[in-house]
Amino acid sequence: MGEIAGARAELDRLGRSLRAQTVELVTELTPGADLDLLFLDEPTVSDRHEPVKYRYSTDFRGERPPGVEAADLVLRGAEMLSAAGWTVTASPADVVPGSIGTKDGSTIEIRATTAHPSVLFSVRTREMSLTEPRVFEWPTPVRTAETVDPGYVLCYECDGLGRCPECGGRGWLPDEEQGRITCPECLGEKVCPICRDAGQLLISRLQTFQRGYYPDLPK
Ligand SMILES: [Zn+2]
Ligand SMILES: [Zn+2]
Repeated sequence: MGEIAGARAELDRLGRSLRAQTVELVTELTPGADLDLLFLDEPTVSDRHEPVKYRYSTDFRGERPPGVEAADLVLRGAEMLSAAGWTVTASPADVVPGSIGTKDGSTIEIRATTAHPSVLFSVRTREMSLTEPRVFEWPTPVRTAETVDPGYVLCYECDGLGRCPECGGRGWLPDEEQGRITCPECLGEKVCPICRDAGQLLISRLQTFQRGYYPDLPK
């Protein structure tokens, strides 16, 4: 599977820059917050459609210091982001005070409420594909009419494929909404649920209903 040259390095660079900016905001706006709880060390899957995309993202909560109004805190955050080269837009005035900064496709959203000291930092880099889109190749059957062992028949479920005939051995199926869903036939196990990857079945072990798939077998 081909990695896109430089993509991971670029995403890591965005992640580090996002982390540094978030630490700066948290330290200034909600001093005393436990930065050990700022989990931004690994990118996670943000979109499971092929090609799968990744980004760094987290939500972090701090507390507004006593005596600081929510609106003032958000304003101060917006100033800091602006000074650091972020493009800042304010949340609509009718919702809780908030501002959103964007830079290089990353976003930092700061939200404070008047009713509660909680301050929410929602931060994420842009999404990136790290690998070339995968072209799925249907597997080759493990057994064919020519290679089936004496005393065996080709599996009626997979016709000798061995892999799950529904998903072709991926364990999942493409899904428009979720990107992918677990294959309902093999439940993600990837192999044919009848022959378990053998591609063939022992004639003497066939159950009565299974013999029904092979009308040419001697009774
Ligand atoms: Zn399957
Ligand atoms: Zn099978």
